[in-house]
Amino acid sequence: MAKTERQPRIFVVGSSNTDMIVKAAQIPRPGETVLGGAFQMAAGGKGANQAVAAARAGGRVTFVARVGNDDFGHRAIAGFRREGIDSKYVLKTGQAASGIALIIVDGRGENSIAVASGANARLSPADIRKATRAFRAGDILLLQLETPLATVRAAARAARARGLRVILNPAPARELDDALLANVDILTPNETEAERLTGTKIRTRQDMARASRKLRDRGVGSVLITLGARGVFLSDGVASRIISGFKVKAVDTIAAGDVFNGALAVALAEGRTLESAARFANAAAAISVTRLGAQPSAPRRKEIERFLKKRLGCAEEPPMNEQRKDGRHETRRR
Ligand code: ADP
Repeated sequence: MAKTERQPRIFVVGSSNTDMIVKAAQIPRPGETVLGGAFQMAAGGKGANQAVAAARAGGRVTFVARVGNDDFGHRAIAGFRREGIDSKYVLKTGQAASGIALIIVDGRGENSIAVASGANARLSPADIRKATRAFRAGDILLLQLETPLATVRAAARAARARGLRVILNPAPARELDDALLANVDILTPNETEAERLTGTKIRTRQDMARASRKLRDRGVGSVLITLGARGVFLSDGVASRIISGFKVKAVDTIAAGDVFNGALAVALAEGRTLESAARFANAAAAISVTRLGAQPSAPRRKEIERFLKKRLGCAEEPPMNEQRKDGRHETRRR
């Protein structure tokens, strides 16, 4: 779909960081200095990554965030504008530096990351009020957990009140309260995050169904557990199924989840079913893992369409009815 006025808007409320990456032979131990690495700087932060992924996938995107009034912040805003993202709610603060992630990657691709949240930690419920006034029924709100929980909660509540669909990518992993989950239409944890949220160890498909049921019982509409190369487990309360991932040669899986979420929001804004949107998101994320970097790896709409055309017809596992413990079928749906 072209970016017409009628296409619903995707509001992304979240973090913006600058990733400072050092590639070294090994990750230094405490007290150790490792010499000889290569340095690279890239725009990052889960919120910004998802906003960029959504814009490239064809969405009309508004990003709501806070950066410092410094060089990193100015560069970040210029970057969002280049991507065609509406950045009028990317606020600046003179009281904290822009968010930074110091990343060390070793020869085997293992990494070690320290994040200085800086301005991201100051994105307050009051900051997002102006943006939430621009929410219109049918728009989509995309959230993650790198900004204060009070802000995430306020955004979800405002979105629910105005008839938006709320997608929460609960990353990084943490526990969440039912009041927030009750305002979430689609929750997109990876396996670790799903385990953390539910206390259910996820090994089998039954475990995925059990974890999803727990989350839906706490108020979530639908659950999509991303499974890396295997794709995604989808549970909407009527049936659950695995939407298979696409086989690709993975080079760097950093931000695969971010690309997945951005593309998912776009497909839903275009009126696709959750299952079809998940397939579109699997394709976008699969392309992104064949490339290095977070934001640089997010594919554009044309590439996703070309990829899907070439790969369609991939096998999927059959749906599994969601059987409750008491033997009744789960029929709750939103
Ligand atoms: P996160 O990056 O948040 O840990 P996952 O690892 O589950 O999340 O990946 C998110 C999505 O990215 C998956 O659901 C899948 O669509 C895609 N993906 C991740 N790794 C691969 C891979 N090796 N090959 C193909 N697709 C992948």
